[in-house]
Amino acid sequence: MADPHVVGTDPGIAPVQQHHHRDVHGGAARAAVFGISDGLVSNVGLILGVAGANPAPSVVRLAGVAGLIAGAVSMAAGEYNSMKVQQELLERELDLERRSLERFPHVETVELTQIYQSRGVAADQARALAEAMMSDPQRALEAHAREELGISPEHLGSPRAAATSSFVAFSLGALVPLMPWFFIGHGAAVLTSLAVAVVAAVIVGVATGRFTGRSRFRTAVRQVLFTLIPAAITYAIGSLIGVNV
Ligand SMILES: [Zn+2]
Repeated sequence: MADPHVVGTDPGIAPVQQHHHRDVHGGAARAAVFGISDGLVSNVGLILGVAGANPAPSVVRLAGVAGLIAGAVSMAAGEYNSMKVQQELLERELDLERRSLERFPHVETVELTQIYQSRGVAADQARALAEAMMSDPQRALEAHAREELGISPEHLGSPRAAATSSFVAFSLGALVPLMPWFFIGHGAAVLTSLAVAVVAAVIVGVATGRFTGRSRFRTAVRQVLFTLIPAAITYAIGSLIGVNV
């Protein structure tokens, strides 16, 4: 029957099944686009908020650089932590599974047979398939990990790689509204900052639309609104508060 250690999952339904064999590059590209979007939205809001108070351009520049670094570090740390925790959880589950395979091979064979049957394999074939899988410990663990946990033991993901790419992606996005402040004066920089942010938002929106299969026009419009509305709000707040020198 069901593994006592697979808490809260029904082996008949198989928890994260659809996720394995997911295109890894597609996943990384999608994560990169969302990271860029985060950097863009948060830094355009920060930069325009400070710019609203009309300080020297060097102040806006400093705020933008600090926002970029703080945001990128926080995204990387968050990504690292969540991947690490997930990896440790999966490793623990794999350990439990490994031990259960050693101690109760018979129970585990029956379990695997039932999983195959629930996928529509005939009883005797399911039994034969399960026995073939169980004949080799490594293959048995892989089969159980795949069917019960929806993972492959060798592909638990790399927290460090995930942290690095979200750091880079956020920085790229955050750099877009910041760049003009290195080259032009205040009034023009505000408008240029907004303009390049809108162009980047359109590109991000179109890319998001490609991933979700939704209308690219709609995702682009939504992304532009997500970029402009927070920026308008922070700019208004910035001009209300002002700076006391
Ligand atoms: Zn099992």
